[in-house]
Formats: sequence, C-alpha cells, structure tokens
Amino acid sequence: MDDSPIRDTFHRPLRDLRISVTDRCNFRCTYCMPAEIFGESYQFLSKAQVLSFEEITRLTRIIVRLGAVKVRITGGEPLVRQELEKLLVMLRQIDGVDDLTLTTNGYYLPQKAQALKDAGLNRITVSLDSLDETVFRHMNGNRSSVQKVLDGITAAEQAGLSPIKINAVVQRGVNDHTVVDLARWAKDKGYILRFIEYMDVGNRNGWRMDDVVPAKEIVERIHAVMPLEEAGRSYKSEVALRYRYADGGGEIGLIASVTMPFCGACSRMRLSPEGQIFTCLFASQGTDLRDPLRAGASDDDIEQIIRRTWGERVDRYSELRFLETDTPRDPKVEMYHIGG
Ligand code: SAM
Ligand code: SF4
Ligand code: SF4
Repeated sequence: MDDSPIRDTFHRPLRDLRISVTDRCNFRCTYCMPAEIFGESYQFLSKAQVLSFEEITRLTRIIVRLGAVKVRITGGEPLVRQELEKLLVMLRQIDGVDDLTLTTNGYYLPQKAQALKDAGLNRITVSLDSLDETVFRHMNGNRSSVQKVLDGITAAEQAGLSPIKINAVVQRGVNDHTVVDLARWAKDKGYILRFIEYMDVGNRNGWRMDDVVPAKEIVERIHAVMPLEEAGRSYKSEVALRYRYADGGGEIGLIASVTMPFCGACSRMRLSPEGQIFTCLFASQGTDLRDPLRAGASDDDIEQIIRRTWGERVDRYSELRFLETDTPRDPKVEMYHIGG
C-alpha cells in the first residue's frame, strides 16, 4: 500500500486532522458565538445529524491512512459532548496517529482531565484570553470566571496532559492591555502561550482589521518587559511563530494568520460534527461524507471522495484576504462549527 500522504494542487500534503465533535458550547465568546445570535432559540444540530463515535472513528481511520498523523479534537466545546473519553479510546487504537490532542475552554476540565488522560489523550490546549476577570467575562459572554478556567488548567497539569498550551485571541481595545500579564503568568507556570490574531472567521463576529493586534506588536509589548528572541517554527506546517525568552524561561507562539499568513504549508483537514470535510478554515462549503457513509459506502468509496477533495484543493484564503475582488463571496463556515 502507498502510505505517502495525498497532495493538493499546490503539492501540500495532508498531515493534520481537526475533528469538531459538536457545534454546541457553554461559552458565548463575542468573537466566535456572540450571545445575541446564539440565543435560546438558536437551532443547533440534532443528535441524529451529528456523527456517532463509530462514524468519526471510521472516517478518521481512512483520513489517517491518507496521511494525517496529528489529530486534534475541537468544537464548539468538545467537553460538552457526552462521554468524549470513549471516542478518545477508539481514536487511540488507530495505527498511525502520532499525536492526539484537544482544544477546550477548560470549564469542565476539573471533572474531566484525568479521564481524558486515561483514555489516551497526549496533550491539551486551553483557551484563556485574559487573567483580568472583567475582561475575560466580557469576552466569554459572562459564562465563566478566570478561576474556573485556572482550576481546569491545574487539573490538566495534575493529570499529566503536558506540555500545556494556552490559546489567547487578542482584540484591540478589548484585551490587548492584558497580554503582558498573561505572558508573565504562563512563563512562571511553564505553559506555552500562543497569541492568536483575531480572525475574520465565519460571518457573525463583525470583524474589522482595526480590531486586529498584529503579532509583531504583541511581541514588541512583551519583549519590552521580558526580552524575547526568535525561535522559528518547529516544523514546516506549524501554525505558530515561536519566540524564546532570552532568560531561558520558556517560549511563546504567535498565530499570525492575518498579518503573516501561512497557507503555503497548510496541511490541515477539518471534519465537521455532521460529517463534512473542509479543506480551509475559511471555506464556504464542505464535502459531505455522512450521506455516503450512512448509505453503505465502502471505505474505498469514501477514500476516493477524500482523495478527490484534497486533490482539487486550491485554498489559500489568508494569503488572498486583502486582494480586491468585485465578486461577493459565499458565506464562510463558522468557527464554532469546525473548531479552528
Ligand atoms: N471551545 C474550544 C475553545 O474555545 O478552546 C475549542 C473550539 S474554539 C472555536 C478553538 C479556538 O479558536 C479557540 O482557542 C478560540 O479562541 C479560537 N477562536 C475562535 N474564534 C476566533 C476568531 N474569530 N479569531 C481567532 N481565534 C478564534
Ligand atoms: Fe465556545 Fe470556544 Fe467558540 Fe468560545 S471560542 S464560544 S469557548 S467554541
Ligand atoms: Fe490553511 Fe485556509 Fe488557513 Fe490558509 S487560510 S492556513 S489554507 S486554513
């Protein structure tokens, strides 16, 4: 069997799979699921629409065979999906998965961390945008205190889900004045902090370029207080630009998808909760695998659909973001749907 990864039109291999296990979330982050839109009457996917663990595992096995070696579980909030540990156990058994990780808002980690570790999760990323209570509550739609997430991070550390990564989205005038505090805290704790430029994902967060704090500016602010030196990317398709503290006390990462796009090495495929694959975070359309799966397609049939989809891939949205175009584009998929 040919085990080299499949390649797209720019010769980019398939290497990473992000699985969104639910479109639901217990937070209402203003930049992702603003409460005005995702209110009581919002229609989330029904249980029947969402892939079962068996279906996710079967698709993952095929996608891993086509090249994916890193698998990340995301959402919505993955920990609101009941018995997620069972899925991890199933995914862990797939030959070829080198790294099994999960991105969470951390809220349910105090009760879940140990079970996740026992199920075979290697590492975890927890999102925490600020240590300032007022700022954080504003950003998460008043759904959680800072302490609740800190308790979750401690639980993950105690369970051995290390090295712990912390994701922080930075928005100008919202939390940019708190980035140095967050960096100092993460440095003291030995966590790898990654700042994410606020992105124009989805269609509902009212994104404006003025709200983006360029990665360069974030680095300068931290460097002024705690000197940093460039450390490059760990591997070619790594999304974060890394900086090391000059005193040897750890590192930070910058995910500069707006100001320094990294489409050239993008090897990520995303699987949505209802079984569509997306070849770009900013795609308008996915390719459905659930209908063929439920209609009795063989693994080979499904493999052909995935091969074709990746083979035709031309995505490089972030590199084209600022090109003038007269053609209005179709609405993009939402972040809470495919999980970043
Ligand atoms: N609920 C989990 C969480 O928040 O960690 C996992 C899903 S969430 C969609 C994945 C990551 O996307 C989070 O770190 C979140 O902060 C980030 N994110 C969401 N909307 C974003 C946006 N508009 N720009 C940049 N990052 C965003
Ligand atoms: Fe939920 Fe994560 Fe989106 Fe926040 S970023 S609303 S925690 S899915
Ligand atoms: Fe990959 Fe699309 Fe992001 Fe470019 S814009 S890095 S192709 S997901």
